[in-house]
Amino acid sequence: VKHRARKRFGQNFLHQDSVIQRIITSINPKKGQHLVEIGPGRGALTFPILKSVGKLQALEIDRDLIAELKVNSIHYGELEIIEGDVLSMDFATLGDNLHIFGNLPYNISTPLLLHLFKAIDHIESMCFMLQKEVVLRLAAEHGIKAYGRLSVITQYYCDVEYLFTVPPQAFTPAPKVESAIVRLTPKKNRLNVKDLNLFESVVASAFSMKRKTLANNLKGMLTKEELSSLGLDPGQRAETLTVSDFVMLANTLHDRLNLG
Ligand code: SAM
Repeated sequence: VKHRARKRFGQNFLHQDSVIQRIITSINPKKGQHLVEIGPGRGALTFPILKSVGKLQALEIDRDLIAELKVNSIHYGELEIIEGDVLSMDFATLGDNLHIFGNLPYNISTPLLLHLFKAIDHIESMCFMLQKEVVLRLAAEHGIKAYGRLSVITQYYCDVEYLFTVPPQAFTPAPKVESAIVRLTPKKNRLNVKDLNLFESVVASAFSMKRKTLANNLKGMLTKEELSSLGLDPGQRAETLTVSDFVMLANTLHDRLNLG
């Protein structure tokens, strides 16, 4: 019996061979790497990769799919399935130098990325399929419309490469939106953020109301005078700031809070 795609688990299964091959080439899996797949589904990426490298770990929430994966993977190699919600997986416990990939459930993409960044020091590479619009946001440079909170946080942690677009027809069922493949490479040297929570809240506040100025969105955190003294125009919008501008803002706030 063929598995019915479950909407609540964001299930859209890849079926087009040429697309599957192109994604695997981008993931570039190698024997000996610690490979972890998020959401193996019916095995579209899992089985060919398993065949070429012999073993991998996969995190899947849907029990019916897990049963099917267990049976079918035997022909290809050693598949270790970790059952459960990827959002409650502590990736740090898996080990180091993780190579994480997957055609992600789009309904949890933002929380999932933020969750992965918590374990960033354990990750060597990530290659994901996401909704195209999300990949555009991840890769957006400052000054363009798609640039926002997710761009700043992601680019603080990773180098981002938009690899290619995937049309809805590559999946069953076909999603309503276009998809894209992104490569996220954790930066070897990150900017020096004194307090990560503070950095994240400054970024979130700065973008909280898109049409408002920086000074307005940061009211209660940083004064107009402080913004000016950092060389920023209080009247400018958050989307014009670089990642290092945000780091500077958060560190300034941190220093003031810890002096007083
Ligand atoms: N990799 C398969 C493919 O490309 O055909 C399936 C991709 S499908 C877009 C997303 C997969 O993630 C599904 O197998 C789904 O059951 C699984 N999934 C959804 N939510 C999950 C969660 N919270 N934790 C773990 N897996 C999840």
